[in-house]
Amino acid sequence: MSLFYSSLDLPPASRFPGLSSNGAIYHERMARVLDGAAIAAEIKAEVKAEVERLVAQGIRPGLAAVLVGNVPASEIYVRSKVKTCEALGLFSELITPPETVTTKEMLALIERLNAREDIDGILVQLPLPPQVNAKQLLEAVSPDKDVDGFHPVNVGRLQTGQPALAPCTAEGIIEILKRSRLPIAGQNAVVVGRSDIVGKPTAILLLAENATVTVCHSKTRDLGSFTRQADILVAAIGKPALITVEMVKPGATIVDAGINRVTDRAQFQRYFAGNERREEAFLQKGSTIVGDVLPAAYEQAGAYTPVPGGVGPLTIAMLMANTVRAAKLRRGLPA
Ligand code: NDP
Repeated sequence: MSLFYSSLDLPPASRFPGLSSNGAIYHERMARVLDGAAIAAEIKAEVKAEVERLVAQGIRPGLAAVLVGNVPASEIYVRSKVKTCEALGLFSELITPPETVTTKEMLALIERLNAREDIDGILVQLPLPPQVNAKQLLEAVSPDKDVDGFHPVNVGRLQTGQPALAPCTAEGIIEILKRSRLPIAGQNAVVVGRSDIVGKPTAILLLAENATVTVCHSKTRDLGSFTRQADILVAAIGKPALITVEMVKPGATIVDAGINRVTDRAQFQRYFAGNERREEAFLQKGSTIVGDVLPAAYEQAGAYTPVPGGVGPLTIAMLMANTVRAAKLRRGLPA
């Protein structure tokens, strides 16, 4: 794992006074960048080693990925999940029912996967076509194979502190904090967003790590009055650059889960003015990704996850870790 200080995504440096090695006061200090890609690589290396140990005992953890229809973004996600399985030595199977599949057919497929001995994890890529009852389907996945952590049984287990498969992005956020040796216990953590996939499970996991947790959402009055209290600020909103400079407590840790595509030139300028490297890439590609936090606000932070390259890479790494965990839990091995 490497944690580094970088000026890649930032406008001119923050100005915090400090002491140089010869004792002189200096005024340039960058916020610490939490390198999600490096942390994800570290986790994947651990998963690979664990898979080798299990294979030596005759157990090869297996993931079934179900991809319905031809949604290009879903295809990219699922194929990269399957490719990662292969790279780490897990068994994987990609199942691609047609766009016209019915709920009944999907339920029959899930039932078969639940019964298969070589499958430890079942992933149903969302979104599903409108004729398929997604809720019914996700609840049909055996909780023991629910590597996305969406099943109500796993939600309940997580809430009550029992061994559970938890949603991968939330787990990834905790891994970033822990592996970066950032304190969680006793810290004021503010999570903006309360989705079942990111916000809520992140809040539950932070609480389990003894943070004092506040959850904000679209009906929260005066959002800034809460975010300014945060030692750890998690943004999982899906609104580009919603968290601005004055909403961040100086020195806080910012975890920005947002992934928002920007194609408009004026919008780009609002978020990234002065960042020549980004601008070059934007002009070449015609788009860029911005998080839920305004890049200038990262400067206020003590540490932050960049977008891209922060939380994003952890999601697949944690899916792999969850599949291995499911394989062990299902066989009664310590996990
Ligand atoms: P959802 O749309 O399901 O949830 C968004 C949450 O943000 C809701 O709880 C909503 O409140 C809240 N919200 C919306 N507007 C505001 C506002 N103005 N002020 C305060 N809160 C607000 O999104 P997800 O949780 O699925 O995703 C959040 C972000 O994380 C997205 O950018 C998504 O792309 C990204 N993501 C990243 C992943 C990764 O791997 N890095 C994985 C999954 C998601 P309310 O409940 O009141 O509507």
